[in-house]
Amino acid sequence: MSNSYGQTATSRTLQGIGVSPGIAVATAVLYRSRVYNAPAVEIAPSAIEHEWRRLAVASEVTRRQLKVIRERVDEIASSGEAGIIDGHMMVLDDEIITADLHHEIFDLHHNAEWAVREVANKYIAQFQESGDALFRERADDLSDVARRLLRNLMGVKEELPGAWDRPCVVVAENLTPSETLALPRSVVKAVVLDRGSLTSHAALLMRAIGIPAVVGLGTVSQEAVSGQQIAVDGGNGVVVLNPGRRELSHLLGLARMRESIVESLRERRGGEAVTPDGVRVRVMANVESAAGVSSLVDDGAEGIGLFRTEYLWMASGKPVPEDEQVAAYRAAFDAMGDRPVIIRAFDLGGDKFAGETGLCESEENPFLGLRSLRYLLHDEDVLRMQLRAIMRASAGGAPANILLPMVADISELVRTREIMEECLNDLAENGVECKTPRLGIMVEVPSAALTAQFLAKRADFFSVGSNDLTQYTMAADRTNELVAHLYQPAHPSVLRLVKMAADAAKSASIPLGLCGEMASVPGLAAILVGMGFDSLSMAPTSIPAIKALIRAVPFSAAKALADAALSSGSAATVLELSRDFLARHVPDLLSL
Ligand code: PEP
Ligand code: MG
Repeated sequence: MSNSYGQTATSRTLQGIGVSPGIAVATAVLYRSRVYNAPAVEIAPSAIEHEWRRLAVASEVTRRQLKVIRERVDEIASSGEAGIIDGHMMVLDDEIITADLHHEIFDLHHNAEWAVREVANKYIAQFQESGDALFRERADDLSDVARRLLRNLMGVKEELPGAWDRPCVVVAENLTPSETLALPRSVVKAVVLDRGSLTSHAALLMRAIGIPAVVGLGTVSQEAVSGQQIAVDGGNGVVVLNPGRRELSHLLGLARMRESIVESLRERRGGEAVTPDGVRVRVMANVESAAGVSSLVDDGAEGIGLFRTEYLWMASGKPVPEDEQVAAYRAAFDAMGDRPVIIRAFDLGGDKFAGETGLCESEENPFLGLRSLRYLLHDEDVLRMQLRAIMRASAGGAPANILLPMVADISELVRTREIMEECLNDLAENGVECKTPRLGIMVEVPSAALTAQFLAKRADFFSVGSNDLTQYTMAADRTNELVAHLYQPAHPSVLRLVKMAADAAKSASIPLGLCGEMASVPGLAAILVGMGFDSLSMAPTSIPAIKALIRAVPFSAAKALADAALSSGSAATVLELSRDFLARHVPDLLSL
C-alpha cells in the first residue's frame, strides 16, 4: 500500500502547515538552541551600580546587533518582516521591563544575568499561559532577546545555525527570528519545525528569504534523526522521513515541473490580464513600505492595490511624522506613474501592536476592540495628519485613493468624509491645492458586507479584505494555528458576503477590488473573476500566476464556477470545484 507520495514501509510521511513553497530533498540536521547556564549570584550593595552599568552596556551591544540584523532583513525582504526585529528592540526599551530589571538588581541584589532570566521568565510564562497565538509569538520574541542579552553579559559568542557545509534540511522544535535569519541559504534547502503557524515570525521570514518550509509538525524534531534523508514539499506541507525511491522520483519530478512553470509564468508577468472573452482584471500589488515599490512594475504590478501604512508606524512604535509620511506616499506615487495607488489609513490594533498608542495592551479582545478606523476616529489628530499627508503627497497629480479599514457602520464613513473635507479646506487655505481624494472602504467586517448596498452609495470604491472577513465570519482568529481548520476563505458563508459586496459595488457602478490572501490562490481568484471583480491585489510574487489564470479562463466559465461555489455547503466542496476548474482550464497552476 502507498499514499499519493508512494510512501513505503520504512519511510514516514508527516503532514504540517506548508508556509513557504518549494521542494527539497537533503540530509536532516537536528538543530537545538543552546541553553545558557547563566550564573545567579547575590551581589554586594557596593557592586549594585557596577552591575546596572554592566547591564546597560550589554543592552547597548544587543541593540547594535539587532540594528545589523534589521539591515539584513531590509535587504532580503521588501515588506513588514523588519517589524519583527523592531519588536525586539522595543523589548529592550520597554519601561515596565526596565523597572523590573532595576528592582531585581537594586532591591533584590541579583546579578544582571539572574535579573534578566527572572524578568524574561516571568513575562514568557504570562504570554504562554494566555493561550493566544499572538502572545505565544511575543513569548518567543522575548526569549530571543533575553538569550542575546545573556550572551552579551557573559561574553559568549553567538552560536547560530550555520556550521553546515553540505546541503541539508534543518529540523528543529522552533527557530527564533535571529536563528532563521542566520540560516546559510547556500546549504539550507528546507526547514521543518514542530511549532509555528502560517503567520508565525519564523514562517514569515522563511517565506521572505525563499527557503521551503513546513511548520506545526508536532514531533518532527523527535522523530527525525540527524543524517537521515528527508524530503520536504513546502507548498503542500508534506515531510517524508527516509523517502523511498518512488517517493523521491515523485518529489523530484514535482520540483522540476514547478521550477519550469514558475519560470514560464514569470516570463509573461508584464502587460494587462484580459480573459479570452474580453474582461480585463487589473492585477495589483500589496505593499507594506515604500522600500520595495521601485521594482513593482517589473514584477508585473498594474498598480498598488493596498499600501499597509501601519507598518510605517510599527517600524518605530511611534506616530509617523507628517513629512515622513508624505515622503513614503510620494515614493509610491512616483514609482507607479499613471497606475493607481490605493493608500490605506493606519490599520493599527488587533495583531498589529502600535507601540506608544498602548492599543491592544489593555484590551481583553483587541481584534474586536479599538482597532483600525475606530482608533483613528477616537484619536482624530492621527487621522487628520495622515489624510493631510496623503493629499500633500498627491498634490498636483490625480486624486488620491484613500482606503478606510474595518468599516463596520456607515456613520464611520460619513464622519471620515467630513474630516477629510475639513483637511482639504485647511490645505487649500495654506496654498496647497489638491483634488478631492476618492474615499473607499475595506469590506472586511460582516456588517459592512450585509449593508454594502448603502455603503456603496457613500463610498467611492470597495476593496474586500478577505483575511479579516474570514476571521470575523468564521469566528476563527486568523493568527491561531489551533483554529486554522476553521479559518477558511473558501467557506460559502465568506463567499456569499463577498458576493454581496460585489453586487452592491456593481449596482452603484463603483470600482470593486479584493486585497486579501484569497486573491493569490488561483482556484479562489477564479471565483472572484466570476463575481465580477475589477481588480485583485496581492503579494508581488503571486502576480505572474494570477495573470496567467485570468488570461486562460473565460469570464463565462468563471461565472459558472462562482455560481456553483455560492450554492455549495462547505469549503471542501468549493475547493474541490475550483481544483476541477483549474484542472480543466489552467492545469499548470495546480502544480505550484
Ligand atoms: C484583509 O483583511 O484582507 C486585508 C487585506 O488586510 P490585513 O490583512 O492587513 O488585515
Ligand atoms: Mg484587514
